[in-house]
Amino acid sequence: MKKLWTALSIIGISALLLAGCGTARSGDGPASDKLSVVASFYPMYDFALKIGGDRVTVETLVPPGAEPHDWEPSPPDIVRLENADVFVYNGAGMERWAPKVLAALENKELVVVEASRGIPLLEGGHDDHEETAAEEAGAEDSYDPHVWLNPMHAKTEMAAIKNALVQADPAGRDYYEANFNKYAEALDQLDSDYRETLSALPNRDIIVSHAAFGYLCEAYGLNQIGIDGLVAESEPDPARMAEIIDFAKEHQVKVIFFEELISPKVAQVIAEAVQAETAVLNPLGGLSDAQLAAGADYFSVMRENLAALKAALS
Ligand SMILES: [Zn+2]
Repeated sequence: MKKLWTALSIIGISALLLAGCGTARSGDGPASDKLSVVASFYPMYDFALKIGGDRVTVETLVPPGAEPHDWEPSPPDIVRLENADVFVYNGAGMERWAPKVLAALENKELVVVEASRGIPLLEGGHDDHEETAAEEAGAEDSYDPHVWLNPMHAKTEMAAIKNALVQADPAGRDYYEANFNKYAEALDQLDSDYRETLSALPNRDIIVSHAAFGYLCEAYGLNQIGIDGLVAESEPDPARMAEIIDFAKEHQVKVIFFEELISPKVAQVIAEAVQAETAVLNPLGGLSDAQLAAGADYFSVMRENLAALKAALS
């Protein structure tokens, strides 16, 4: 009896070891052989890592916990781009520094992917005062850059990233295609869960700290009222605050949403004025170190957002 058990466990352990050897890509050489990918900010990092898997290393330029809208690259960031194989950015006016920086790079081998390319963009005007400022800054700024918050647009972005990785590393084609197919399916599931959950709810209006949810609202028939405009750091004026408070009262809005990277003060003032609660709705501009350490990613945050929307609109 004992002998048999020992024999079985040895077989079991060997099988585990063999399986381990098969999945660890130890035969593919040292880490430096991996494709070096630089991503602009969090969703681009997460998508690139999901498609690139263990054939790539991915670094993000915008550090964890930083607000991506007003971020600018420093000289060490330029060095990272000079040494990279692939650069992934969202585009649509999100990384306003990108066109100029890319034009100045000496790295002529760099494969550059503007992941939002081909996605029909929404006009950026949520607030009148915000739109005026954006228009003054240039035509590119007048679009809403937050495409990744619609899972179907996220799929388009992942496809663009997959194509760029195949271009930079043709030997990995099957691997990148397989990863893309896996996550494309997960995005389809996320989309259908959003559709099913939100279509059943009686309320449609969400009040959010910055107007990042235009594509999400467009996809699922919601209506966003941004306390601030498209760019996260701007302060609302008193007239705008009064307007939002009136709207919240009239539509019996139960929850005022804020986000982790912006001070919740204004959302709290509005919530108190209309006796609503506050809750987090995360536009995924960046995750904190703690969230990353806890294993959060695009999918987990999008599912938290769905739960928050469901609670607020029920
Ligand atoms: Zn934003």
